[in-house]
Formats: sequence, C-alpha cells, structure tokens
Amino acid sequence: MNCRCTVVGAMVEQEQLAGPPEYERPKAGVHFSQWRATSEANRRTVLRGLSRAGLLDWLKDNPLGEIRVVQSLYDEFGPFNGVYNPANASIRLSFERPEINQKPIWGELDTVSTIAGNPNTAAQISLVHEAGHHILTVLGRQMGPALEDKIRKVWNQANYVSGRASVNWKEYFCEVHCAYIYLQNELQVKDPLGYNLIREIRRMIGARD
Ligand SMILES: [Zn+2]
Repeated sequence: MNCRCTVVGAMVEQEQLAGPPEYERPKAGVHFSQWRATSEANRRTVLRGLSRAGLLDWLKDNPLGEIRVVQSLYDEFGPFNGVYNPANASIRLSFERPEINQKPIWGELDTVSTIAGNPNTAAQISLVHEAGHHILTVLGRQMGPALEDKIRKVWNQANYVSGRASVNWKEYFCEVHCAYIYLQNELQVKDPLGYNLIREIRRMIGARD
C-alpha cells in the first residue's frame, strides 16, 4: 500500500519546499534582545531572515537590540519598510506592504523586499536589509572610513538592483546584501561588482553562505 519510494519522494519534496535546512533559529537573549510584534506577524517567518542570511554566529558576538514589527511606519516623506537605530541596534519593521508581489526585474524594484509574496516574507527581507545597517555600524567602528571608501567605490559604478540601492552607499550595501540572499543568480550577472563586494564583507564577518 504505502510504497517506500513514495514516502521518500514526499520527504524530499517537503525539504525542497522548506528550503535549506536550518541549523539554528534566532533566539531572544542570544542574537537579539527581544521580539515585539503585531498579532499578524509570524515570528518564525520574519526572524528566518537572520538564519537565511547566515548571520547567527556573527550576531552572537554582535547582537541586535529589540526587533519590533508594527502595522505601519511613516515619516514626512510617507510610508517606509524598516528602520535601524545604531544607538541600541534595534530594528523596527512595517507589516503594511501594499507594493509587494513584484516581478524581480533588475533595477525596476523600489526595494528587494517587494519581490515577497506576503507581508511576513516582505518583513523578513526588510529584516535582512536592516541587519545590513547593523553590519555597517559594527564594521564601521572597527574599520573607520576605509569601509565607506570600499563601498562607495562600488556604489559609484554599480548596476542598482532597486531604487533604494541608488540612494547612497549604505542603502546600496543593504539592498545588494538582500539581493545576495534572495536574488543571487541575478546579482552575479547584473551587478558582479556588488556580488564581489558582499562576498568579501560577508567573509570578513564570517557569515555562513
Ligand atoms: Zn536602509
């Protein structure tokens, strides 16, 4: 009745759907201080961004502060997806994402997070973006202006994945880092300089690929 091949086949399929196996899940008190969120936000889906980005080992030594998902974030320019506060390494993410479900067309995206199919995945990609600001803050303290010089050089001649990436060298780094995790094949072809930059910086912090 229950052929073993079918069972094995089903298991393989499940694994493919779930993506690569997770070695470890982000934990409060280890990788970040605490989690606060609106009821619709799925903690596991959003936080998976930190494991997908291979940052858990590095975050043990350089933990984030509070990660908070709120319904929406606005300033005088309108709604935005997320914000990182370097003073306490806290991150706030917006759950309201009217602009998601975009085709991943290089250069035509507002942000990489718009390729997400639902608000939880969008918040996951925005968490990776904001974690990029955390990497810049910690590395900036260690490297000084050499970090900005290195990224600015690439930013000046890059083929931007998104509108956000064109804003300045910091936004470029955070968006290309998202592209490295979520659009890696496209990144290698469309912005090889950005791909090499991210690979180099991820090696410096011991991020897991
Ligand atoms: Zn940013």
